[in-house]
Amino acid sequence: MADKYSGACFCGSVEIEVSGSPEAMGYCHCSSCRSWSAAPVNAFTLWKPENVKITKGAEFVGKFTKTPASDRQFCTKCGGHLLTVHPTFGLTDVYAATIPSYPFSPAVHVNYPENVMRIKDGLPKLKDYPAEIGGSGQIVPE
Ligand SMILES: [Zn+2]
Ligand SMILES: [Zn+2]
Repeated sequence: MADKYSGACFCGSVEIEVSGSPEAMGYCHCSSCRSWSAAPVNAFTLWKPENVKITKGAEFVGKFTKTPASDRQFCTKCGGHLLTVHPTFGLTDVYAATIPSYPFSPAVHVNYPENVMRIKDGLPKLKDYPAEIGGSGQIVPE
């Protein structure tokens, strides 16, 4: 697997690069992700913060913090979403759609009971989050 993958916002003013391998990949069905992404589900890739870099257009990165758990970042020119820093998890979610060159390989669905679109892909569906990051780890029906 190549070591670095780049991506950009919707207009290309902000470029981003991830390196190494993510800590986790999957889909979040929570209402916050759906509302922020304006989509029925959010595909996430979670990285250690040091593996995520803004390589161009840092001056166009806007931030919105609704809760201390999520520092959401977007391009102020096009409104395109880039990533969400999760200080409480110590991880940064770079949306899979933002880094299309990265071979997205989801392993889990989180916050599945909040779903508006069931996805029958056979992957585990969690009630909230894995126990390792403070969730219940409880599996719910697909
Ligand atoms: Zn942009
Ligand atoms: Zn979510």
